[in-house]
Amino acid sequence: MSRIFHLWPVVAALFVLAWAPARADEAPPVAAVVHLADDGARARLSFDLSAPVTARAREIANPDRIVLDMPAVDFRLRPQAGRAVARHPDALIKAFRFGLFGPGKSRVVIDLARPACVAHVETRRLAPGETPSRLTLFLRACAETAFAAAALDHAPPPLAAAPAPAPSAPARGLPVIVLDPGHGGVDGGAYGADGAVEKTLVYAFAEALRDKLEATGRYRVVMTRVGDQYVSLEDRVAKARAANAALFVSIHADTLRESTAVSGTTVYTCSNKASDAEAQRIAESENAADREAGETTKAADPGVADILFDLKRRETRAYAHLFSHGLVARLGEAETLNHNPERSAGFVVLKAPDFPSVLVELGYLSNAHDVANLKSPQWRDKTAEAMRKAVDGFFAKADPNGEPASHALTASAPGAKPSP
Ligand SMILES: [Zn+2]
Repeated sequence: MSRIFHLWPVVAALFVLAWAPARADEAPPVAAVVHLADDGARARLSFDLSAPVTARAREIANPDRIVLDMPAVDFRLRPQAGRAVARHPDALIKAFRFGLFGPGKSRVVIDLARPACVAHVETRRLAPGETPSRLTLFLRACAETAFAAAALDHAPPPLAAAPAPAPSAPARGLPVIVLDPGHGGVDGGAYGADGAVEKTLVYAFAEALRDKLEATGRYRVVMTRVGDQYVSLEDRVAKARAANAALFVSIHADTLRESTAVSGTTVYTCSNKASDAEAQRIAESENAADREAGETTKAADPGVADILFDLKRRETRAYAHLFSHGLVARLGEAETLNHNPERSAGFVVLKAPDFPSVLVELGYLSNAHDVANLKSPQWRDKTAEAMRKAVDGFFAKADPNGEPASHALTASAPGAKPSP
């Protein structure tokens, strides 16, 4: 008994050493190796790290997932490393994703094939000296009821129906174009041929487009994410609203399981009813971005049944169509269009009532030619140039007096009352 008692200070000291948080100015620990063992009864997922981190795991239902949250970790793993990992027929883990989740925060999201509960999370040093540390998540198969109870335990309290934030007053100066590169951080988006990952390719394109637009000196450009960062769909719209957006352009790339032949760029606007089944599928998959990142889905639309809100929304949607037509015409000149290039569906990210929004699916990561295009600086340049011309055309029409475009739009919108 007394011997154990004497060991305590040593154990405590080791514990403090092992768990001392990394200082903010230090580079985050690097994860270079991942191990997975899964026999259907138990699963063990470990990351070898250059320094220890404290991590916390919890269950999330519908679809059933486990999220493992930790301070920022630099995951130097193949982006595809966690895809389709089940080897055992009864495996608990279907797939997992990893990446930055917020400033100073990383996350691993584990998709479950069957209900599995968190048994334990541990961080331990592998050997004395400067050897790396191993973070391990232990799961065990559990009853569906046990999983549901655990998930309920972690569920955030229901949100009070927050009123839609009021748009800021139109700022003087250049019209603001908000570019929204899809996905980021733990949410990679679509994956495709040749190691293509949507979040990376659409970001490179958004940067090229930003440079083109800024070079004209006619616009201020705001990006909804900076680098490989996760931003929720709601926060993307909130950022655009805070920036007093005159135009919102969301940039994505798609993938098709059924066919590798489908290719080309498609421009989407928002509608309550999808233009076709394919548009419906794409909206559903893009709207699931927050779920992919391990977030519980929040009420997307506060359901504002206000007639003014409705008028405003109809007006901005008319302008989104105007921009969409011009964009499709310009992209047609650049010869990169899909066979059915102008569609609509209920994209969450396009639902802001106060500025026109479009979503561009640049191409299909399931198509080798599109992937080669998206990776090519020449293609990006040509396509961004076509989009820059479409933006110029749109603002030339909407903004004859040099007023901020959102202003000009309000005054002349179809269906709106004539301005006093
Ligand atoms: Zn996407």
